[in-house]
Amino acid sequence: MINEKRLLERFLNYIQIDSPTKDEREFADYLMKEMKEIGLEVYMDDAGEKVGSNSGNVIGKLKGNTEGETILFSAHMDTVSPGRGIKPVIKDGVIYSDGTTILGGDDKAGIAATLEAIETIIEKDIPHGDIEVVFSIFEEGGLFGAKNLDYNKLNAKTAFVLDSGGDPGFIVIQGPAQNKINAKFIGKEAHAGVAPEQGISAIQIAAEAISNMNLLRIDEETTANIGVISGGEVTNIVTKEVEIKAEARSLSDEKLKEQTDHMVKCCEEAAKKFGGKVEMDVDNAYGAFKVEEDAEIVQKVKKACKNLGLESVTMTTGGGSDTNILNANGIAAVNLAIGERLPHTIDEHIYIKDLENATRLVLEIIKVYA
Ligand code: ZN
Ligand code: CA
Repeated sequence: MINEKRLLERFLNYIQIDSPTKDEREFADYLMKEMKEIGLEVYMDDAGEKVGSNSGNVIGKLKGNTEGETILFSAHMDTVSPGRGIKPVIKDGVIYSDGTTILGGDDKAGIAATLEAIETIIEKDIPHGDIEVVFSIFEEGGLFGAKNLDYNKLNAKTAFVLDSGGDPGFIVIQGPAQNKINAKFIGKEAHAGVAPEQGISAIQIAAEAISNMNLLRIDEETTANIGVISGGEVTNIVTKEVEIKAEARSLSDEKLKEQTDHMVKCCEEAAKKFGGKVEMDVDNAYGAFKVEEDAEIVQKVKKACKNLGLESVTMTTGGGSDTNILNANGIAAVNLAIGERLPHTIDEHIYIKDLENATRLVLEIIKVYA
């Protein structure tokens, strides 16, 4: 029922318009024009001004032509780097980049699937309820577009985020909360050869703190990692300052707190042991979400999959996405796989067949809800 040729053209057009995080404007303008032409009511919000992007989130609405619950489709416009000057290469039914950039299928496959499905339902006059669309900015690196969306302006209480890797039919129903933990260890400078006993080494404090920490896989629900460590300049000075940037994630808010407290305690005790100080900054990046297996939204997606002959599988992710933020704002949301393979790498690719199935799934979900 979908127009496969138009879908492919649409996807290839999208990925060739640069939209790295905080520089989504050109792509946003392109989408708004296209959405108006298709028949959606469209506006851009002011989230960009708040988070330092040259574009706001793009919100589209389509009035229903029949009764039915309002549903929302969401995908993000921004891409990770290297994401400028993407040149698609198609080989044996698979779309790759030319190997110097990402492909940008994360998340433009989600946008292409959404708009192709909506254009099809309008064109073929397929019964549908009210549909809302959110194309967010600044998802990569903080979910800031979704965090600054005005939820009062949305009617939907049910949302489908199209931003997950793997086979269409995979349904992500659970995701972790994440804390960002930054620590600055402060010791005391001294000449390392003349009077080292007068110094306090921030590097030794950091080493002590880190070696006492439980890191990486904590349990089946919890992970933790130190991603950045920096400090020191020369060998003849006892280093005064070292900074570490760390994170902890868990599907359980309680376990996240436990792991975070543990990491903070390791830092504080190490500073104390060496007579130095530590300044800590703990920030909750996003909360966990969980949609029950028997929830209506999951049952309806499964039904749509069944109608299409796609195998549906519910799963848990270790990553964060706009799905976390939508759920935190009272909208039941699941994250659907759109066929993305190896996102965030220059080997990113997508099977055309998967892009088509993701689009058929969006269309079928619309039908199931009408
Ligand atoms: Zn994404
Ligand atoms: Ca991503």
